[in-house]
Amino acid sequence: MSEFDFDLFVIGAGSGGVRAARMAAAAGMRVAVAEDRYMGGTCVNVGCVPKKLFVYASSYREAFEDAEAYGWKGQVDARFEWPTLRDNNAMEITRLNGIYRNLLGSAGVQVIDGRAKLSGRQQVSVGDTTYSAERVLVATGGWPFVPDIPGSEHAITSNEVFSLEVFPRRILVVGGGYIAVEFAGIFAGLGAETHLSYRRELFLRGFDNDVRRFVRDEVGKKQVKLHFSHEVQSIEKQADGTLKVHGVDGSVLDVDAVLYATGRKPNTHGLGLEKLGVVLHKDGTIGVDDNFRSSVTSIYALGDVTGGPELTPVALAEAMALVKHWQTGKTAEIDYNNIPTAVFSQPNIGTVGLTEEEARQAGIPVVVYKSDFRAMRHSVSGRDERTLMKLIVDGSNDKVMGAHMVGPDAGEIIQGIAVAMKAGATKSVFDQTIGIHPTAAEEFVTMR
Ligand code: FAD
Ligand code: NDP
Repeated sequence: MSEFDFDLFVIGAGSGGVRAARMAAAAGMRVAVAEDRYMGGTCVNVGCVPKKLFVYASSYREAFEDAEAYGWKGQVDARFEWPTLRDNNAMEITRLNGIYRNLLGSAGVQVIDGRAKLSGRQQVSVGDTTYSAERVLVATGGWPFVPDIPGSEHAITSNEVFSLEVFPRRILVVGGGYIAVEFAGIFAGLGAETHLSYRRELFLRGFDNDVRRFVRDEVGKKQVKLHFSHEVQSIEKQADGTLKVHGVDGSVLDVDAVLYATGRKPNTHGLGLEKLGVVLHKDGTIGVDDNFRSSVTSIYALGDVTGGPELTPVALAEAMALVKHWQTGKTAEIDYNNIPTAVFSQPNIGTVGLTEEEARQAGIPVVVYKSDFRAMRHSVSGRDERTLMKLIVDGSNDKVMGAHMVGPDAGEIIQGIAVAMKAGATKSVFDQTIGIHPTAAEEFVTMR
């Protein structure tokens, strides 16, 4: 008989926690997982899943408009009903919550509802009950960060945006990262007067510069009003409930909602980590070694709370690598190179590998291939939307170091390119590959 209640106690049933719990249980460990908010975590409840559903919702306006030229009449006057989208989304999320709970249950994981904290190096308390566990895995994710400015209490974040009582006719989105660009597209598509405020001169810092400029132009065409080099000084609530947003530059914007998308902070507060000697980084994320072990040998952490790339597939990969490590004793195998990612802006961005700027900075003799064209669909619809594709090649060995796309289904297309890059594909291999016609993706194998 073990001296512990569990072999593994997981705190947080999000992307990483659920995967680790299920895998560990399948490997024969006695596992518990505590969750205080929602099964499935950020991605399922207030992240990837509802976001993608809202992106679908927002794409219909243009689809209706474009349909006219293809002979479909009468759609342009279609009316959007926010409560229908909001409530159908909530129903879908509830369904997924149930699936996650069942998955854990059928894997033999004990689910404990409530807020957990570490009360010892091998002890976790939820409410009045304390459990012992040989290993504790902290997978508590992150939480939206809102800068402390006067009136910030009137702002909403991605946590609230999916369940708003009333559709905001005018919205200001603050930030220039994934969430800001995705939600600016969502609200513009749904018909809101949409503004985006970003503190520097061009959003999407870290993405390829051609991509950033291209997205700026495309997003601008979709009626998102871009305010670059703009900083919000304060938000003032008016008697009628609307918001007056004052810029540091003296500008004033009248809107119905302000959505802050200014990054996320790790959920480490109140877990009792510091008291146990777990070393945190300056930004509050948990420091871990290659095997996701913190400075305390019985305490592990993975996913957003450790400050790596904040992406669901990364949290999942980390969970699988960790359980495999426990099973085999070998160092956790995980490769953070060439992680593909998509921004579900309109149009989408898909990207993997080095940007042109990163490749040049690394001293690589860069050869760039670029294609900028109007997608076939729009030759008839007449829509002025363009697609960008770009390959970054190392001229010394012909290896493809980066692939970037802005256009419909960029995420779907880049996933396949990422496999080729992982396999070390050269530009010649791309060239030898026969295209699929007529697609946009075939451009990746015909660029010369
Ligand atoms: P989480 O999924 O955040 O799970 C942590 C869980 O721990 C939560 O359920 C929380 O309630 C629980 N918890 C916290 N503290 C405690 C405690 N003390 N006791 C008990 N439970 C606790 N990624 C993508 O790959 N693609 C996307 O399209 C995408 N879109 C996103 C859109 C938005 C709006 C946001 C906010 C994020 C998006 N992400 C996306 C990022 C993705 O959601 C995260 O990277 C992922 O959820 C991280 O998983 P995790 O397991 O580390 O944490
Ligand atoms: P990001 O880190 O992507 O972007 C944060 C943005 O906020 C940056 O533009 C940053 O500006 C700006 N910012 C930060 N602090 C301030 C401040 N004090 N005042 C004004 N602006 C500020 O975070 P997000 O919130 O957009 O998303 C969090 C993470 O979730 C992402 O990094 C991503 O990993 C993940 N995610 C993934 C998605 C996907 O895969 N499709 C979708 C959504 C989220 P600056 O550039 O100057 O630093």
